Order: sequence, then structure tokens, then C-alpha cells
Amino acid sequence: MTARRTKIVATLGPASSSPEVIEKLILAGMDVARLNFSHGSADDHRERTRLVREIAARHGRYVAVMGDLQGPKIRIARFASSPVTLVEGQSFTLSNTHPLDEGDETIVGIDYPSLVADCHPGDELLLDDGRVVLRVEKADADTVRTTVAVGGPLSDNKGINRRGGGISAPSLTDKDKADIHTIAKLELDYVAVSFPRYGSDIIEARKLVRAAGSNAWIIAKIERAEAVADDQALDALIKASDGVMVARGDLGVEVGDARLAGIQKRIILHARTHNKFVITATQMMESMISNPIPTRAEVSDVANAVIDYTDAVMLSAESAAGHYPVEAVAAMARICLGAEQEPGTTRSQHRVGETFSRRDETIALSAMYAANHYPGIKAIIALTESGHTPLIMSRIRSAVPIYCYTRHAATQRRAAMFRGVYTVPFDISEHNVLDVNREAIRRLKDKGLLAKGDSVILTKGEHDNQAGGTNDMRILKVD
Ligand code: PGA
Ligand code: MN
Repeated sequence: MTARRTKIVATLGPASSSPEVIEKLILAGMDVARLNFSHGSADDHRERTRLVREIAARHGRYVAVMGDLQGPKIRIARFASSPVTLVEGQSFTLSNTHPLDEGDETIVGIDYPSLVADCHPGDELLLDDGRVVLRVEKADADTVRTTVAVGGPLSDNKGINRRGGGISAPSLTDKDKADIHTIAKLELDYVAVSFPRYGSDIIEARKLVRAAGSNAWIIAKIERAEAVADDQALDALIKASDGVMVARGDLGVEVGDARLAGIQKRIILHARTHNKFVITATQMMESMISNPIPTRAEVSDVANAVIDYTDAVMLSAESAAGHYPVEAVAAMARICLGAEQEPGTTRSQHRVGETFSRRDETIALSAMYAANHYPGIKAIIALTESGHTPLIMSRIRSAVPIYCYTRHAATQRRAAMFRGVYTVPFDISEHNVLDVNREAIRRLKDKGLLAKGDSVILTKGEHDNQAGGTNDMRILKVD
């Protein structure tokens, strides 16, 4: 049976924190567990991380853990009696000075002073992911006066976005900085940065993460209108990060839902072209929060992201707080496998006409060219330190599995994110130079993944233990 190539990120939350459910999620196909730092305590995240690592190890599985920072999500404060109902056409005021627990149908506090300075008459503010829309009439020193354009119930602490973006909150809050220390202590594999505007936000995050002692790779969540305003802005964010997330929840609110599908395709294409991975996120299986099977539209949404060649698809509330977390992962796994049958997903346009910038990149892409054109290649074996070589390999469409051979636990987990890449623990320093290739092949033969007569491609660096050192590629016959 062919293995699924597209990876599944599942958010852990109240519905998925017991050992039983985490085990079922892993067995159903969760490749990356996402900890949402907007909710839960450091203790909750520590316990979930421990369980994921322990249970994955018991099953011989490699599951990465991602810490997703809350970021500067601007929120309303609370109501004396929540929820209130806003009616289209009425006036409603957001106030910096109103007591935080005493909102009502006419006014509510906010916890973000400069929102006022960022707002101008005519602007539209979207609350609760756009369920309630307010039109700004007037903004003075401490208050924003609005008219309700779309009414409905509004409850405590709902988020605020501005249509078109342009809210000037800095990307990393004090809470994020504290959470980075928790993430470093838990040795998480990935950190996702919320609402970055510029490449410099990601560079700053990377500095803080490294200073805290973590080697986690950094994910830029693409969720502000400014981030997709033009290719230059998008590419700057992509280049500064190790991978990106198409964060459709907030992005859809800021740019409007009508543009979202096209922008998603553009982000996936640009990320891959820059040798970065990409996660497609939010509401992919939304109806599975309360139903055991997805709608046709959701099936199509997941399949389309797979056909666009996303690395991973993500579950949020479906796995964190829904009634069917395990079913949601299983449904995603099934849909990914089905969509991967499309011939287009295994054929590459190659990068003919491009200049490569690194030696390991050149080897990685040459390996894929060879794998896709020389008949009989059943596997690609990449001996790697950081996982960078298999990451670049998996930017190229192919039906040939890429095996990430590494001795580092962090790299073993990290590779769980990359499309078509599978981890094999392997310590090159334990083998005589002359035996390495044979030993590497034997690992896959023992698992029944290779047979006599198959061909494999193997890449490595001539000097061991050196990240970025891959400079050797050969085609080997299995005997
Ligand atoms: P969130 O990010 O779930 O942390 O808001 C994802 C998104 O906005 O889609
Ligand atoms: Mn978001």
C-alpha cells in the first residue's frame, strides 16, 4: 500500500488531551500536534507534549509538536451579562476607558489602546471572525463610535480585525515572549508566529527563540492583509521563515472570503518555490466539530489543497474542541490518500531554467530529477543532520518516497511535517564508511519497503555530521 504523503496537523485541546484520544489521533494519522498558546496553561501544554512524545515512541512513530503563539490578537473585553445582541443600524462604542467587565448593548471595553489611532471613519471592524461587522463613524482619543452593519450575538473576549488590515500591533507580545521560554523548555519542534507583518518580525522571533535555547523551526502565519498585498511582502515573510501557514481564519476576515482561494494557491506556490514547507489551515473540516462525517465541500477543500501540493492540512477546533477529533483526522487521512492518486500530484514541472544557490540544494533537486526519470527507483534515502536536504527534495512533485535518515531526535520529528518524507533513525557514525550504503538499504529492506532488484538514490555529505554538507548522490541497486 502506498503511504500517505500529505501530512496532518491536529490541534490538541480539551477534546484531545487524554492519553486514549492522543493515542487514537496518532494511530489515525496525526503527524504534527499543535499546541495553541491562545488557550490553556503552560502545564496543559507540558502534559500534552509529554503524552504525544511517549505514545508516539511506543508506536515507533515520529510526531512533531508545534507551539502556536497567540500574537497581538485584539479583543473586546467582557459584558456584564454575556452575550449581548447587536442589531443592524444601532450605535455601538468600543472604549479604552470603559470598565473591562461592564460592557452592554451600547458599549464595551477593549484592551488595546492604539486601535483607536488605527481607525478612521468608514473603516469596517470585523468581530468574532466576521460574524459581527461594525462601521466606524468617529474615533477620538479613547473611543471608536460605530454603527452595526451586521448584527448578531456578541460574547466576551471576541477578536477584532479590520477589513483590509492595517492595525499596527507589533507581532510579538509580552505573553508571546514568555511562551517562547515555555516552548524552549519543552523542546518543541516548531514555533508558529501569529500576525507577522514583515520579514523582520520573523527574524526577531527567531532571535528570541534561539536566545531561549531552542532550535525550533519558525513558521510565519500568513494572516494579515499586508502580508499578501503584493508578492514582495509575501516573499519577504516566506524567506525569513522555515515554513508558512495559510491561516485562513484571520486572513479571510482581513482580505474578504472572495479572494481567499486564489491567495491560498499563491502562498502554496511561493512557499514551495522558496524551498519552504506550507500548512493549509482553518475550517477544513468545520462541520466535523459536531458531525461524524465531512461535507462534500470540506472533502473538496482538503483534496484541493493536496492537489495544490500543500505539505500539510490542519485541524483546529475540529480536533481541539469538537465531538469527533479522531474521525476528523481519519477523514483527512483518507481524503489526502485519495487526492494523491491524481497523476498531477506526482509529476513535476521541475525547475528548468533556474539557478540554484546551494550545493545541498543542487544535489537534492538532481536526486529528484533522477528519481522521477529513471525507472525502477523505489526510494530516496537522504542522510541528513538538519533535515534540510529532504525538505528541498520534497519541494518537487514525485511518487517516490523520501526517507530522512538521521541520528537526531529533533530532526526525526521535524521531518514529520514535510510532504512525502518519512523518518528512519540512523546514526552514520555507527557504521564503517564502506558499509553505510548497504546498512542504509537494509533498513528499508527489513521493513519490506525494498526488494532485490529495486534501485534507490542515496545522498549524503562526504564529511559526516555537518549540516548543509550534502554533496554526494548515487544510484544503488538492491541486492
Ligand atoms: P488561529 O490561526 O487559529 O490561531 O487564529 C489560524 C487562522 O487564523 O486561520
Ligand atoms: Mn489566526
